[in-house]
Amino acid sequence: MPGILLKNVTVDGCQRDIVIDGGKISRIVQAGEFEKSFPTFGYDVLDCTSLTAIPGFVNSHTHAAMSLMRGVGEDMLFQDWIKRIWDIEAGLHKDFVYWGTKVACLEMIRTGTTVFNDQYWFSSTAREAAAEMGILPAVSYIFLEGEGRPDAETQKAKCQKWYNASLDWGDSAIFTVSVHSVYSVSESLIRWAAEFARDHGLKLHIHVSETLKENQDCQAAHGGLSPVEYLDSLGALWSDVIAAHTLWLSDNDVSILGGHGVSCVHNINSNLKLSSGYKFRYSELKEAGANLCIGTDGCASSNNLDMLEAMKTSAIVQKAWREDPSIMPLDELMAMATENGARALGLQSGRIEEGFRADICLVDTRSSFFLSPAPFLANLVYSSHSDCIRTVIAGGKIVMKDRVIPGEEEILTNAAKVLTQLKK
Ligand SMILES: [Zn+2]
Repeated sequence: MPGILLKNVTVDGCQRDIVIDGGKISRIVQAGEFEKSFPTFGYDVLDCTSLTAIPGFVNSHTHAAMSLMRGVGEDMLFQDWIKRIWDIEAGLHKDFVYWGTKVACLEMIRTGTTVFNDQYWFSSTAREAAAEMGILPAVSYIFLEGEGRPDAETQKAKCQKWYNASLDWGDSAIFTVSVHSVYSVSESLIRWAAEFARDHGLKLHIHVSETLKENQDCQAAHGGLSPVEYLDSLGALWSDVIAAHTLWLSDNDVSILGGHGVSCVHNINSNLKLSSGYKFRYSELKEAGANLCIGTDGCASSNNLDMLEAMKTSAIVQKAWREDPSIMPLDELMAMATENGARALGLQSGRIEEGFRADICLVDTRSSFFLSPAPFLANLVYSSHSDCIRTVIAGGKIVMKDRVIPGEEEILTNAAKVLTQLKK
């Protein structure tokens, strides 16, 4: 992989040269300094005048291949919506996941995401698709029980087999273990999955307390324990756990999640659209010690994978119900969408700093949205749209240059063909 020199790029308001070697940010110097001292022969040199570098986004909870299921369950309650999804997924095949993940990657790259935490079927196919697009996926073996699903022993064996296969992936993907939720996986299998993840140093990805009904059903089924208390009682909460949603939390739930340093992923657009709730207890979770991240969830519920949109909605909804405009400041919001997500996955990414993974978006500030005395981040999050993201570098590789992503036409054409096979 050739080195890249980002010449004359704005970083935190200053003009810099960023040098990328071996997939990492190797040097950040004053603009013009690098070329004075080092030959740039063999480097891909990008003139970044008028461009501002920000870290690539980490979408901390999504179901990428659902990019081909947009709008299939509009205006439905969560419980009806999920039945509709599982019904469609019963006919799922590898081609659907391959092209669906490619479409998702197109959209994620276009909107500045360089790492995503996926939870979907045929994960080795999803990994392949993402690797070809050049962005980094965390993909899972998913435990889910119920009608038509393999029995527990078969699932355990598959998880072990997929983990073994993942040892050959190198740094093209992160293998995680997923438990779909407390309502779709039995107690003994949750215990097994958690122990497997712990024993192998893997992240455990799970939907937790997404709806009030999930919370009430869990309490009824497990002697008054909330989903968080129940998972804790099974030894399924520790600092490697990535808990999606965590919306319906008691004070005790907050202190359990914080005490373990669990990564809690806020998926506001999905929650709003499915009427699951919106009172994410941001300040309490932060205070308690949880690692707070942002995700888009899958396109079947949030309809797109745009992290800037998710950031804006997270902040404005939080400000509204807390009646406090200072509750989720811009620097913390940015950290949730970048470095906190990277931390959840054990990556050194999400900051424009020497030694960090070269996950960088170059933002074009030549538009009305940035003609303001306000700080850059305010204009980026609250005024602009993700089409201001001009070029994206993921793991030291240019995956979109001047809004062009190689192979886009072919991906859209093949995805459209696959869609015709989807169960209506
Ligand atoms: Zn989800």
